[in-house]
Amino acid sequence: MAVVKLENVCKYFGSTPAVRDFNLESHEGEFVVLVGPSGCGKSTTLRMIAGLEDIDSGTLSFDGRPMQDVPVQDREIAMVFQSYALYPHRNVFENLAFALKLRRFPKAEIERRVRNAARTLDIEPLLERKPRELSGGQRQRVALGRAIVREPAVFLMDEPLSNLDAKLRVNMRAEIAKLHRRIGVTTFYVTHDQVEAMTMGDRIVVMNGGVIQQIATPLTLYDEPVNSYVAGFIGNPPMNFLSGEVGEAAGRIHGPGFEFRVEPSLQQQLARLDRREVTIGFRPEHLKPQPDDAYSVMGTVRGTIELVEQMGSTTDIRFMVDGHPLIAELPRDQTLQIKQPIELGLLAGHLHVFDSETGERLNVVAPKASADSARSDSPRGGPGPAVSAAGSRPG
Ligand code: ATP
Repeated sequence: MAVVKLENVCKYFGSTPAVRDFNLESHEGEFVVLVGPSGCGKSTTLRMIAGLEDIDSGTLSFDGRPMQDVPVQDREIAMVFQSYALYPHRNVFENLAFALKLRRFPKAEIERRVRNAARTLDIEPLLERKPRELSGGQRQRVALGRAIVREPAVFLMDEPLSNLDAKLRVNMRAEIAKLHRRIGVTTFYVTHDQVEAMTMGDRIVVMNGGVIQQIATPLTLYDEPVNSYVAGFIGNPPMNFLSGEVGEAAGRIHGPGFEFRVEPSLQQQLARLDRREVTIGFRPEHLKPQPDDAYSVMGTVRGTIELVEQMGSTTDIRFMVDGHPLIAELPRDQTLQIKQPIELGLLAGHLHVFDSETGERLNVVAPKASADSARSDSPRGGPGPAVSAAGSRPG
């Protein structure tokens, strides 16, 4: 287990910045997920931690020990990649033992480590098999085993599940999370899949264009995105966005097809924005059918249904509000029809307000959510840095 610290780390390919001013200090044994769209710099960051890419500026340390000049083989790391390329002519035992043999570990130690890893991963009965005699999930477990036998201080995983089919991915992600809990090694995990990030990470680093947008626990990212980029990236179905004007001394936010009363606590925060245009965001599950006295709503949004998706447990609708497509996740309902006009209420306390120019969040969250996330942000007692960076708009 190690504390991995990156300070002001930058990486350029030619004149193109791939990673800019990356700052992060892991906790010991933490599972850190780097997530973002293709080309945002996730793999480059991981490769710099591994020593496979040089750092142009900034510093990298493991447990306070500078790492920039330490060669890959001396960094006490183990990597698992998307293409796990097992040796086809060696059996599972030999695949697991290979790196240890190269390093001239004693035979008894190799035997001990391989057996331990096989037990941890539940692949003991497969040790005599060749890779072609294994399923995709079993092969991926062998690839993890090759990393485990190294008994590293840091695990680095780059999209290790992307070759697997959807169902296997879900199973393997649970297995990796369990494995991490069992062996407790500090892990950096790269994925472009926000569901994978949300379900696996102790903390998640959301990146875009080489820049960290936010570092936080899954629920903090979900409840308190620092900008509209993070708000739109995290969550499935994604957050809805509309442009609106702050009016009546910040007592309401309105636009074509919607009008929300602003709660007194939020009103204070938005007072300086009176008559300004803002981007508002709200999640599909916070829209509720109207009229319904069971909910405390801030106001309503009116549109026309374009698509009804029966999900089994919910009915999702895609509807247009003044030319803007929105999504609502509603209680199961078989009466909703395409082209039907619809009016939905927005649950109180679930409005996100962003600066229309910079995308930055303008309102703080309701006290309850704040207290929850403050607790969860620091799972191991350390400070939970929330980093925001400018330059993002809803996509
Ligand atoms: P993906 O999910 O597609 O793997 P990523 O977020 O991991 O993307 P990186 O592979 O880190 O992104 O790439 C970041 C940027 O650096 C991209 O613009 C990419 O084109 C560029 N880049 C990466 N490696 C090189 C290289 N060896 N030479 C030149 N440019 C590179």
